[in-house]
Amino acid sequence: MTWLQRLGDGMRRHGRLIRTVQWLVVLVYAVLLVLPALLPLPGSQARLVNNLTLLAQFIFWGLWWPFVLLSMVLFGRLWCGVLCPEGSLSEWASQHGRGLGIPRWVRWGGWPTLGFCLTTLYGQLISVYDYAQAALLILGGSTLAAMVVGLLFVRGKRVWCRYLCPVSGVFALLARLAPVHFAVDEQRWKANTAPRLPLPNCAPLLDIRRLQGASECHACGRCSGQRGAVQLIARSCNTEILQAPRQPGSEWDARLLLFGVIGLAMGAFQWTVSPWFIALKQTLATWLVSHDWLWPLQDTAPWWLLTHYPQLNDSFSWLDGLCIVLYLCGSALLFGGGCWLLLRLAAWVAGDRALFRPLALTLTPLGGAGLFLGLSATTVKLLRYEGLGLGWVQSARAVLLVGAVGWCLWLGWRQLRGVGGVLRGGAWFFVVLSNGLVGVGWWLQFWGWG
Ligand code: SF4
Repeated sequence: MTWLQRLGDGMRRHGRLIRTVQWLVVLVYAVLLVLPALLPLPGSQARLVNNLTLLAQFIFWGLWWPFVLLSMVLFGRLWCGVLCPEGSLSEWASQHGRGLGIPRWVRWGGWPTLGFCLTTLYGQLISVYDYAQAALLILGGSTLAAMVVGLLFVRGKRVWCRYLCPVSGVFALLARLAPVHFAVDEQRWKANTAPRLPLPNCAPLLDIRRLQGASECHACGRCSGQRGAVQLIARSCNTEILQAPRQPGSEWDARLLLFGVIGLAMGAFQWTVSPWFIALKQTLATWLVSHDWLWPLQDTAPWWLLTHYPQLNDSFSWLDGLCIVLYLCGSALLFGGGCWLLLRLAAWVAGDRALFRPLALTLTPLGGAGLFLGLSATTVKLLRYEGLGLGWVQSARAVLLVGAVGWCLWLGWRQLRGVGGVLRGGAWFFVVLSNGLVGVGWWLQFWGWG
């Protein structure tokens, strides 16, 4: 038995300890989310070390988000199964809920994509990274929704996490790259030999016997060792992406990756530094003034609709809000749509339209690196306010970006392994172009517009 198998079995044996840790995380989460929203806004002299609001902001957006995403790539969805406060609360609520069946509309495969896009957009409109009230509204609202879903559907499960959580789609994409996962030997499962352990409660409602890969599994360890068929094992980071042509899957993951994780998210990270955004706003403002329409230039919206903190000189006008929506949607169309078109062309050149989704998934490392770069820009910004120079950051960004592009190109080449000779090269050319398009987007943000 390897140390990984022992670790997986240990997670099952020490389920109680994991549950205790989950409640501690819930407690810390609640304190960091609720308390800062009740405190006055931090003054200009406030620092991380002496202001709870700034500290919570740094923990949520500077540490928690970027490193939860990184953990998906390193350990699979361990965060979901072991630490996520929202999942814990949803499962706890469902133990005391009505236990209804899951309606068809809840099972619709587009919720994680829609949820991710809408929360990203809304988060920018109310400046979720900067204000505690906004964070409470978005994160607290999501937690409340998770508990309500738990109270309604299927006792003791995590229906929210499986079908509705706005980040579950992103986590499922990134977990495909994890070098460890709970592997199931279906033959041994059917043989049902000893040890005969009690049936585990798989909270995200997975069919454990047919489990393939780390994408859906929350890595909670509850089924480790079941029927001697489930084991935590190491694998190549490329396995699950390269298996995509032989596995059934929905096109929603490709749509989420191209239009959401790559296109829309890039717009969300970029608009504050983009000269295109300023040009768009100036053009629309000039047009509005020339037509004597002045109300869109006023900042009269409440804080829960558009950022509104006049005491800090930080308020969005209706025009700002419109420009943010237009910029993010434009970015989704330009970068997501561009990649979509190029990868369709690649599949067409390869002579197999079904290759589109597997080729799209080869962009997962770049999508993940982009999210990490964008979110960690907040980490860097907050640390620089504290006086840290971080002169090495630009080089680290370049290394991460170049490494991710190289990884994607290699995956794309391998994904085309069944395509012969010149056609393989031709199809790969379009894969290279799609990577280049995303790379240019990030180059503009960190170097071109710097
Ligand atoms: S299959 Fe289910 S029970 Fe097993 S580790 Fe994954 S989430 Fe947990």
